[in-house]
Amino acid sequence: MKITVFGIGYVGLVQAAVLADAGHQVCCVDVDAAKIDNLIKGIIPIYEPGLTDLVEKNHAAGRLSFATDAATGVGFGEIQFIAVGTPPDEDGSADLKYVLAVAETIARYMDSGKIVVNKSTVPVGTADRVHARMAEVLADRRVDIAFDVASNPEFLKEGSAVADCVRPDRIIIGTDSDHVEARLRELYEPFNRNHEKVIIMDVRSAELTKYAANCLLATKISFMNEMANLAERLGADIEAVRHGIGSDPRIGYHFIYAGCGYGGSCFPKDVQALERTARQVGYEAQLLTAVEAVNERQKSRLFEQISHHFNGDVTGKTFAVWGLSFKPNTDDMRAASSRVLMELLWQHGAVVQAFDPEAMEETQRIYGHRRDLRLMGTKEAALSGADALVVVTEWRDFKAPDFEYVRAALSTPVIFDGRNLYDPQRMEAQGFDYYGIGRGKSV
Ligand code: NAD
Repeated sequence: MKITVFGIGYVGLVQAAVLADAGHQVCCVDVDAAKIDNLIKGIIPIYEPGLTDLVEKNHAAGRLSFATDAATGVGFGEIQFIAVGTPPDEDGSADLKYVLAVAETIARYMDSGKIVVNKSTVPVGTADRVHARMAEVLADRRVDIAFDVASNPEFLKEGSAVADCVRPDRIIIGTDSDHVEARLRELYEPFNRNHEKVIIMDVRSAELTKYAANCLLATKISFMNEMANLAERLGADIEAVRHGIGSDPRIGYHFIYAGCGYGGSCFPKDVQALERTARQVGYEAQLLTAVEAVNERQKSRLFEQISHHFNGDVTGKTFAVWGLSFKPNTDDMRAASSRVLMELLWQHGAVVQAFDPEAMEETQRIYGHRRDLRLMGTKEAALSGADALVVVTEWRDFKAPDFEYVRAALSTPVIFDGRNLYDPQRMEAQGFDYYGIGRGKSV
C-alpha cells in the first residue's frame, strides 16, 4: 500500500521504517529540512536500537522516501498518517497546532479520496476537529472530495520502538467506517499474523485509550514513589515491598519501580493534558492531579538527599551524574529527571560531571553553554575527583560497576542511587554512604 507519514520524529520515523520493511511504500514528510536532508544522506536524527539499519535498508530498496514538499506527500499516499508532536500548551492541555496544520495541508493538496489516520496523542474530539478543518479547506477550494479521519494511537516505547512496532501488543483503530477498517486491517496485516491484535472501536474511545494507558502507567510509578517516601519514614525497604506486592498476579511486577520520577515526552504531558480535558468537561480528575504532583516532588528527591548529606551546602562541590536520558536506550532528554537534578545543583553552586551512553550530543545541545557542566567521555571519567556519584538513569552499563574503582575515583565515597540499582547493605559494607529511594533511610 502507499502511505504518507507527516512528522518524522520518534513515532513517525519508526512507524514509517517498519511499514516499509513489511513491503509498503512510504513517503515521509517533515517541515524540518535539515532532518530530511540528513535522512536522505543516511544520518538518523534519533537513537533507537535497530532503526538505522532499517531506515538504510528500506531507503536503498526504494520503499522509504523523504520529502519536505507537502504536495508530494499528499499526492503519494492513500493513507495519510499524522504523527507530529502535540506538546503542552501554556495551561498544560495538548497543543493541536501541528496536527491541525497537517490537516489543512492534506486538504489543500488532495485531489483524490484519502484516509487520514491520526497517530499523534490527541484529546478526545480531535478527529472531529481534523475533519471539520479539512472540510473548511475543501469548501474554500470549492471541491468535493470524500475523505475519512480515523484514530490509530501509537503505543511504542522509546528505547524499544522498532521491536514494539514490529510486534505490537495491540493495534487500536478508531473508526465507524467499514471501508477504513478494511484498509487499515490490510495495512497492518503483516503485524497481525500470530493472533488477533487489531481492536476496532469508535474514534473517541480510541483517542481516550491512549491517554488512559499512559495515565495508568504514570499512576503506577507515582503510587510506588508515594510508598517509597512512606517506606523511608517507616524504616521499610521499598524493594522488599515491590517483590512482595508484585508476586500477586493482579498487581504484577511491571512498572512498579520506585525512583527519582518519570520523564519523557509522553507521561508528563499526557497526564496533564487529560487532567485539563477533564476540567474542560467539568470534572475534577483528582487522581491525575495527585499523580502529577507526586512526580514533580519526586524529581527533586535526589537533590533533597544530596543537600541533606552535605548539610545544605553544595557550593563548589562536584557531582558525577550517570544517566541523562529520561530512560535507558534512548537519547531523549525531554522532561528527564536528570535535568531537574542538574538545574538544582547548578542553582546551588555545584558543578556536574556527566556521562550518558547515548545522550551526550543532546546534553551538549541543551546545556553546552554552561561552564558548570563537564561532559565526560566515559562513566569512569565522570567520577574523577567528584564528591559523590548520582545515578539517574538505569542504563545496563551502570548496573554492576567496579565499586573499588568508584570508591577510589571519588573524593568522598557517597552514592545517591535514583533507580535503586545497588544493594544498600553491600554498598555500606564496601565503605560507601549510600542513599536509595525508599530504602529505609529517612532524609
Ligand atoms: P517528535 O517531536 O519526535 O516529532 C515530531 C515531528 O513532527 C518533528 O520532526 C517535527 O519537525 C514534525 N512536524 C511538525 N509539524 C509538522 C508539519 N506541519 N508537517 C510535517 N512535519 C511536522 O514527536 P514524537 O515523539 O514522535 O511524538 C509524536 C506524537 O506521538 C505525539 O503526539 C506524542 O505524544 C505521540 N507519541 C509519542 C511516543 C514517544 O515515545 N515519543 C509514543 C507514543 C505516542
